[in-house]
Amino acid sequence: MLENMEELNHEDVIKEFNLLTKDAERVQVETLRRILEENGNTEYLNSFGLNGRTDPASFKAFVPLSTHKDLEPYIQRIADGDASPVLTGKPITAISLSSGTTQGKPKFLPFNDELVKSTMQIFQTSYAFRNREFPLKNGKALQFIYGSKQFKTKGGLPASTATTNVYRCSQFKNTMQSMQSQCCSPDEVIFGPSFDQSLYCHLLCGVIYREEIQVVSSTFAHSIIHAFRTFEQIWEELCTDIEEGVLSSRVTSQSVRNAMSKILKPDPELADLIRKKCKGLNDWRGAIPVIFPNVKYVYGILTGSMEPYLKKLRHYAGTLPLVCADYGSSEGWIGANVNPKLPPEYATFAVLPDIGYFEFIPLRENQEDQKPEKTAATLLYRELEPVGLTEVKVGEEYEIIVTSFAGLYRYRLGDVVKVMGFYNSTPELQFVCRRSLILTVNIDKNTEKDLQLSVEAASKLLVNESIEVVDFTSNVDVSSEPGHYVIFWELSGEAKEDVITECCNCLDRSFIDAGYVGSRKINAIGALELRIVRKGTFQKILQHYLNHGAAFSQFKTPRFVGPSNGGVLNILTDNVVKSYFSTAFS
Ligand code: AMP
Repeated sequence: MLENMEELNHEDVIKEFNLLTKDAERVQVETLRRILEENGNTEYLNSFGLNGRTDPASFKAFVPLSTHKDLEPYIQRIADGDASPVLTGKPITAISLSSGTTQGKPKFLPFNDELVKSTMQIFQTSYAFRNREFPLKNGKALQFIYGSKQFKTKGGLPASTATTNVYRCSQFKNTMQSMQSQCCSPDEVIFGPSFDQSLYCHLLCGVIYREEIQVVSSTFAHSIIHAFRTFEQIWEELCTDIEEGVLSSRVTSQSVRNAMSKILKPDPELADLIRKKCKGLNDWRGAIPVIFPNVKYVYGILTGSMEPYLKKLRHYAGTLPLVCADYGSSEGWIGANVNPKLPPEYATFAVLPDIGYFEFIPLRENQEDQKPEKTAATLLYRELEPVGLTEVKVGEEYEIIVTSFAGLYRYRLGDVVKVMGFYNSTPELQFVCRRSLILTVNIDKNTEKDLQLSVEAASKLLVNESIEVVDFTSNVDVSSEPGHYVIFWELSGEAKEDVITECCNCLDRSFIDAGYVGSRKINAIGALELRIVRKGTFQKILQHYLNHGAAFSQFKTPRFVGPSNGGVLNILTDNVVKSYFSTAFS
């Protein structure tokens, strides 16, 4: 809709959003009608006998909840070249690959123009609100974004990550331009064949355009941390390149070299200035505003599994605001951050009622499930009937169900969200965690969020040592009786033995789930084990994923590494320096 506009009219976008959200219930009914009118004749929906009905009650009565597993055979047929209306009335134009870091392997998902449209809509919506608080002038963004490799499916559809599918659209560039957030690096860098070379050039372009850079961003916060950790190591090389106007030989891709040669000119003055700035930094604290003096904020997904990186991000960002990006997935978008001033810990996402039809399964802990005779690997919550977008209650947690314009019907996204309030009549959601349990030995149930809280509590004990947890993951060891939790930590330095021992005990004590505490007390679960891994281990894990085709832009460290993820498990096991067993329950 705003494709070719020069500059976005923020107030118009906000007005449109207000109109949509004032009557969210009606907009949802209307959106479902549009989805079903366009796609009612598909093989998938026909199989449930919907017979042209487009109202919510019939939809819920005829069409069951679905998971990716249910849709996989249909998506595979589309990927293999079946052009009949399998899941959507209009053709699917590409396949998106989800990051795969949460499930172990990337999922295939349908991608079409509707997703491009909703991506632009959500970007523009949150930008309009952001710009009210943090106005940008004409400038550029230092965006750590990376197109992943594209391949053709058997049926000839282009397949790539959802972010790459979006970066490749002309609308993306136009929208970024209208949002004064155009990436300072040329396309050849974004789509370069090597992630390391692209990162090097992103940094170089950032420094060259340092005065113009107004935003430092990435899709997920992890990429910003990774970029500045790299900056710390290679700043001298960057300065030499700028001084001489010659690109480092580490960049071997000819297309990237050609594109960079148009930007990189000898500039000894700038090189000198950057050298002085870098040398003057104290442990790289506040490096972003020192090197990029006109940046207004740091932007990216900072919530959920990115929260553990906030401390380091604040370290680099100094006093700059950290602003959370929107909430979505390869399956489609959900909500926009319309309260950009809220710190990441309190960020919420207002659901856009016209980009999909949303349902919410209320999640209440099922006390009965906690009886010892039941196994805990079953559901964490009692399964209740899903409610509609405007029927959710403040303070309650829900699993989110999506029906989209891209062929997903009553699809369980697997995310848990909490309703924090309403923007007009649409809910503002806080992301809680992925729904799947990650740590369970018998009747205990701990999610990614529980692990995160436990690591957060234990890592506080390292503050006096000036040491940080660089990254972490977990595993359950059931090779001996009783099984026990294993937490892997990579630390930024060497901590004293007694401090790590205390961290290990604190980790064990911080899992407060009744099933866990009870089992630990009677030794039905063994002592928690903290394994310290060598520096650089998580870098190797990242590299492992990249080697297997994952995209850096969507990378999230897996917080649980199960036996099916043998490659990563081997990296972890091979790099253990020392293990500690908790004595918290002895
Ligand atoms: P992907 O597999 O790369 O499509 O990742 C999608 C998943 O990333 C979502 O289902 C969420 O679990 C997570 N995610 C996306 N956006 C956010 C956000 N703003 N805050 C927290 N988690 C998010």
